Amino acid sequence: MREFISVEEARALVLEAVAAQPVERVPLAQAYGRTLAEPVVSREHIPPFDNAAMDGFAVRSADLATLPSSLRVIEDVRAGGIPSHAIVPGTCARIMTGAPVPEGADTVVPVEWTETGEDAGSVRMLRVPPAGGHVRRAGEDVRAGETVLGAGAVVTPPVVGLLATLGYAEVAVRVPPRVAVVATGDELVPPEATPGPGQIRNANGPALAAQAQAAGAEVLPPLHARDTLEDIRTAVERALEADVLVFSGGVSVGDYDFVKQVLDEMGLTLRFWKVRQRPGKPLAFGLLGGKPVFGLPGNPVSSAVCFEQYVRPALAKMLGRAAVLRPCLRAVLAAPAKKVAGLHYFARGVAATGADGRLTVHLAGPQGSHVYTSVVRANCLVHLPETMVDPEAGTLVDVEWLNW
Ligand code: AMP
Ligand code: MG
Repeated sequence: MREFISVEEARALVLEAVAAQPVERVPLAQAYGRTLAEPVVSREHIPPFDNAAMDGFAVRSADLATLPSSLRVIEDVRAGGIPSHAIVPGTCARIMTGAPVPEGADTVVPVEWTETGEDAGSVRMLRVPPAGGHVRRAGEDVRAGETVLGAGAVVTPPVVGLLATLGYAEVAVRVPPRVAVVATGDELVPPEATPGPGQIRNANGPALAAQAQAAGAEVLPPLHARDTLEDIRTAVERALEADVLVFSGGVSVGDYDFVKQVLDEMGLTLRFWKVRQRPGKPLAFGLLGGKPVFGLPGNPVSSAVCFEQYVRPALAKMLGRAAVLRPCLRAVLAAPAKKVAGLHYFARGVAATGADGRLTVHLAGPQGSHVYTSVVRANCLVHLPETMVDPEAGTLVDVEWLNW
């Protein structure tokens, strides 16, 4: 068991303890938000055939060396139709966007650049695009045999569109890990209750469940344990139905041994306790029956931040995601901040482009670990590394975008 380790060491220990989930196949309509388990290779060219990029006339550019010039219209080709004639010298076809370009034609002249000819069967070309203009070539977007998406890609709405284009009616994705969230605390009552003296509503239970969902996991029904051995034991037994166990509260110095006692009894291998970070110093992590168990500090800001820093990357690795960490951007700190050496700070920030065009970040109000509105207001987490002390305005810092 390691104690009071760095953020990087803690994250490495977490990631090393989890492995990718099994693979399942789901219909495309259910694939949104899932993670691809296999690379996606196109079997076809996209577009599959040369087609018109505009409504107009499919022509042989060689016919239009001198302008204006009249051509005989031999047929109409609509999207979904197929041309029945090749374009021979002196002829053209009226063509709609998306329709296959007839053989012999190499260019589409937009309808706006033409006028009706002397008779209804002909058209006069006033301007022409360069040869090949307004024709979308087969394979211009994707070549047959090309790998268009890697394993680990998240199925975003445009990925859904691409999979549909490529004919993937079913996709191989990772089975989402199931997460059990156990909120511990005698003081907690459910959101619908009116708290009695000394009581507060359980914020972390619902918030962590939502964070787990946002991270791509499935969440089991919420669990609450009072600060008694029996209650914690019962909750752990129920939570063991999940693949990942997340406890909120009961890991700080005062009551840590309490949750630990139960988990110990049940065979927990504690990997680390306490991380050199603020908020969330008393974070605990271990394995119970091979399942990752996170003991998140109960303060709502600590709970939310620790989930994002450790649980979310673990879930991402279990999902086989290509990126387990959110990317960081460099931003200019707008105002000086208070910070001691020896702890990595995750400050809640609001980043936006400043008047000078640079990304600038303000702290999202008071940074106490009980000030939950700072998490709600923030659009990023500002990483202030261990060695940094009282950064001045203008300091360049890493900001992690909170794209929930
Ligand atoms: P603990 O880590 O259990 O010592 O809790 C630290 C602080 O967080 C205390 O003020 C608790 O009341 C508060 N807290 C613990 N669990 C929750 C929760 N689920 N929702 C809101 N606040 C909580
Ligand atoms: Mg507690």
